[in-house]
Amino acid sequence: MKIHHLNCGSFCPLSHPIVNRAIPELDRLNLVCHCLLIESPQGLILVDTGLGLEDIRNQERLISNFIFNKIAKPKLDLEETAFMQILRLGFNPKDVRHIIVSHFDADHIGGINDFPEATVHVLKEEWEAALHPKDAREKARYKGLRWKNNNKIKTYETIGDDWNGFCKVQNLEDIDPSIYFIALPGHTRGHAGVYIENKKNLFFTGDAYLLESQVLSEKYPVPLKLYEKITHVHLDQAYATLAKLRDVKSNNPELDMFSSHDRELFIKMMDLK
Ligand SMILES: [Zn+2]
Repeated sequence: MKIHHLNCGSFCPLSHPIVNRAIPELDRLNLVCHCLLIESPQGLILVDTGLGLEDIRNQERLISNFIFNKIAKPKLDLEETAFMQILRLGFNPKDVRHIIVSHFDADHIGGINDFPEATVHVLKEEWEAALHPKDAREKARYKGLRWKNNNKIKTYETIGDDWNGFCKVQNLEDIDPSIYFIALPGHTRGHAGVYIENKKNLFFTGDAYLLESQVLSEKYPVPLKLYEKITHVHLDQAYATLAKLRDVKSNNPELDMFSSHDRELFIKMMDLK
């Protein structure tokens, strides 16, 4: 399988010069939206979509989301959308057969509408959260309904803890069994990573952590702890997930494990390709 690493949305969160001078860690927080395009025997598979064409053309969609727009400060460049990058790679966007979704935050699913022929694969808890948000936080998160479209949705139950203490969800419909979900709850109810067994195994961890420093040590900059408090729906669950991911990383130092938004990890993966 050939795997392409795509940045489908650049962000410059909290990029106020005074704030950045006071907290130097923030100055380095130029983020990406790391997505994968997999050339598989079953056709093209996207892992997350990043921002979509409509997010760029109709920026009202994002402006209505105050936290996302003011704090994440998306660059909103049409050329960064998965759709445009897939064209530039010489593929037809209609050949994207599947989209595997880590979770339903705007910056991860904005492009679903650009691939109406694709089946969307998501953990059942995440689908339930998006359809029936329980509290104000979930309601704010899933509003906008940008994922309400005609795509076929395939949901999966999470049962057991058969993979390093995490639940592994394999045999996704019409997808090679070497590509599977690892449930990583906390950021959202049904947040998941995606594991790909290939010549070199890849573990995409979505928003379970923002920067690699969080998974390398329990000591990481205070602004990242603040980010966790703002963005994780279930903080205790997110910390438990992060602790287990630290074990996975320390027990498998060679594993290519990367989050959605860490620019350094994105550049590293591009270089390894
Ligand atoms: Zn995100």
